[in-house]
Amino acid sequence: PATSMEELVSLCKRRGFIFQGSEIYGGLQGFYDYGPLGVELKNNIKAAWWRSNVYERDDMEGLDASIIMHRQVLRHSGHEATFSDPMIDNRKNNKRYRLDHLVKDQKADVIAKVAEAMGQSAENFPAVVAALNASPAQASQALKEAGVRDPLSGEVGDWTEPKPFNMMFKTTIGPVADDESYGYLRPETAQGIFTNFKNVVDSTSRRLPFGIAQIGKAFRNEITPRNFIFRVRELEQMEIEFFVVPGTDEEWHEHWLERRLSWWEAQGVPRSKIEILDVPKEDLAHYSKRTYDLMYDYPTLGHEEIEGIANRSDYDLGSHTKNQSELGLVASVEENLDSIAKLTIPHPETNKPVVPFVIEPSAGVDRAMLAVLSEAFTKETLENGNERIVLKLKPHLAPIKVAVIPLARNKAELVDLARSIKSDLQKLGLGRILLEDSGNIGKAYRRHDEVGTPYCVTVDFDTVGKGEDATLTGTVTVRDRDTLAQERVKISELTAYLQAKLK
Ligand code: ATP
Repeated sequence: PATSMEELVSLCKRRGFIFQGSEIYGGLQGFYDYGPLGVELKNNIKAAWWRSNVYERDDMEGLDASIIMHRQVLRHSGHEATFSDPMIDNRKNNKRYRLDHLVKDQKADVIAKVAEAMGQSAENFPAVVAALNASPAQASQALKEAGVRDPLSGEVGDWTEPKPFNMMFKTTIGPVADDESYGYLRPETAQGIFTNFKNVVDSTSRRLPFGIAQIGKAFRNEITPRNFIFRVRELEQMEIEFFVVPGTDEEWHEHWLERRLSWWEAQGVPRSKIEILDVPKEDLAHYSKRTYDLMYDYPTLGHEEIEGIANRSDYDLGSHTKNQSELGLVASVEENLDSIAKLTIPHPETNKPVVPFVIEPSAGVDRAMLAVLSEAFTKETLENGNERIVLKLKPHLAPIKVAVIPLARNKAELVDLARSIKSDLQKLGLGRILLEDSGNIGKAYRRHDEVGTPYCVTVDFDTVGKGEDATLTGTVTVRDRDTLAQERVKISELTAYLQAKLK
């Protein structure tokens, strides 16, 4: 695995996985573009998730809801009121930080002083942050006295009182920009699932338990986007809302924890690198009955959230439904006089309308990319003493499945045969097959090691009967990325050979 974020960032840029957004104008912070190989890897991760959660189950449906949503959706979901992070300004240089990030980044003795001033133990960091949020005036004082430094200037800051900053992006809808004509870019894909609950039930005749899966972009105006694609302002999520009979929710929560861990394992992210954080009651979001955060051990960053699996009780459908008071809701919800739909479903045993509980496994695609790349990243010393970098990606995730390489690029006979082999392999539907006619075989191998291509197929003079060994006519060399073994395979057997290896 990678040992630092830098080596990943450097590989991603060098080989065309990930670029800074708007780079030719100096870049836009918190936005990244996925390059020729990044888009393939990303699509493969999403396809693997979709296969596992939609195609391989009999209790799931898919959805692709719109990104811009009615403001009532984000009002009743609770996002207008609570989707905020605490921010704090340094008056000395007018820079703004997320409060918890700012404190976390200080030296241990400074953190200890802040904790002490707030009457908390430095060991319980969430409690320190909560105390800072609860008493803004005292917080500002505590930060100044502890000598909290500005991460950019390195000097002790003059800190304002912290205040909440709502992270939703607002946008004008239609030609008139007045106070009423706005909507939000969704901060999570989940709300599109809740607002379509009734549509999906009515159109598919689903009964409990069943789930709806969605993959798509979400937008969060993070105060301090950082750590490459770990914290971005435009992100992509893979979310499931799994609707269950109240009372069966705890069992289903365990089911999804297990299932998601085994999915990560199948993508090359082993359980041993994921810590399961059973979020303490006092740190739970107001809607959550219980949450497991999967904390992957990222290079340089350490354990950080890659996926959250929450038991959201009946909070979401209960918040968006009409006739709330008749439905015996367990969660405490804000009154909703705007919704025109009753979000219930018949109880499978009694047939009485019930608001289901929801289990929500929510994973970030960008954070998944980072984890998959990090696990695959390998530095090896070869027998000849040379070092090679190789991405040991699972074949189903590899951006390029096979590179077909003519040994010389100016020999039409070799290039034409390579092109026809490429075209035949492409028809197998395995993913991208690349004709690699850059002419330098050594460089091509190095490049394909670094981008994780599982197999390279080389067409040489022996292949076309113009080499030294006539018995090799009609065969190509297949090179294995991981073992470096090279095997001669008959062209007539190549598709079957690779299909078996790549399935
Ligand atoms: P964090 O505490 O790191 O800000 P969160 O708890 O706000 O994350 P959720 O709201 O639970 O995150 O979102 C579900 C998933 O979406 C996360 O597990 C993560 O993989 C992804 N995600 C959330 N925010 C971002 C972001 N700014 N950039 C990239 N991925 C994100």
